[in-house]
Amino acid sequence: MEVKLLNIVKNEITRDRKPAARRNPTFYPSSASAEMPDGTILGGCQRADWYRIHNVKPSNGAEFYMHFIWHLGRAVESKVIDAMKCAGVYENDGVKFFDRELNVSGELDIVGRYRKDGKVRYYGVEVKSVYGIGCTYTITGRKRAWKGQAAFDPFPKESNLMQTMVYLDQFGSDMEERYQLDYFKLLYLPRDKPNDGREYNVCLVTKDDLGSAMLLKYGPEMTDGEHYAYVSTADFSDKIETRFSIEDLYRRWGLLKRYIEEDIAPPRAHKKFFSEKEINQKREDGKIGKTAFEKWEKAGKPKSSLEKTPGHYMCQSYCDYRSFCYTKTGQPRKEADQVGLVQVSEPKEISYGEAKNTEEGHTA
Ligand code: SF4
Repeated sequence: MEVKLLNIVKNEITRDRKPAARRNPTFYPSSASAEMPDGTILGGCQRADWYRIHNVKPSNGAEFYMHFIWHLGRAVESKVIDAMKCAGVYENDGVKFFDRELNVSGELDIVGRYRKDGKVRYYGVEVKSVYGIGCTYTITGRKRAWKGQAAFDPFPKESNLMQTMVYLDQFGSDMEERYQLDYFKLLYLPRDKPNDGREYNVCLVTKDDLGSAMLLKYGPEMTDGEHYAYVSTADFSDKIETRFSIEDLYRRWGLLKRYIEEDIAPPRAHKKFFSEKEINQKREDGKIGKTAFEKWEKAGKPKSSLEKTPGHYMCQSYCDYRSFCYTKTGQPRKEADQVGLVQVSEPKEISYGEAKNTEEGHTA
């Protein structure tokens, strides 16, 4: 009898494991989000958090491909841990935390050690393995304009930076000394391109922490007293991500907590299919690629074809709840607004598990 090994492996890797995990209804740093002035949501989808917290059974299991991204991500992380141990700069990994007030739990990938002023001090490390366009955005940047697309410096992905900001705040200088980290490293390693990867140092700053040049450049975009990510990396100028502060991320979680306590479904952060107007605008802004745009045009600009109509990649391909949340034609399902009340303000026990950040195909 012929053995179909690939099928056996696929089934084994993707099948549900028993027993299923039961977790506390906490929020995760990897799904932090921020709302922009035009209403666009950066980062995670609160609607997906709301389903998870209400124990809605995922309507779409992760594909084999996604499982492999997770496995590769974990393999890359464990290689980094091995190398840090060999080099004598490893301190810890999988460090868990829970913040009762915010209802947030999470886990640091790795903690490294170094010497500062004769003392051993610590920094956090978050490892991301990236491929394709993800490498260009986060590792190499684009030195010259190319096919009508502007040149840009490499910079961490928004959701990765948000996650790191939460860790920095949760392990900040106002914590007891045993919980403190000096700063965070965000490490991007390539899975398909011949380059060495990139390391970012990230810390939180207010306007008061800035020198005059940075204050002149970024101060007008920062709110007094709020904390923003200060990002530095080799060969490029230091930058501050001013579109969201840690306070913004915490306010969003406060909002989600209220939605849950009042049993109101939060708005969907993303759309399964963009409207014609949105598609044209996004093409103009360079947010929809030429190939995808032409495919949609050639097909007669369909309104709801999963293969041809541009929409948010989470709602089309990656979100575990995509069939539960939207109909095939992209209509929001009404029944998805009523999934029951879950109490989040008084969790009975502490759950420390945190989902790996895989929300955008190109990181793991
Ligand atoms: S399908 Fe889209 S809007 Fe709905 S929960 Fe998932 S990401 Fe959010």
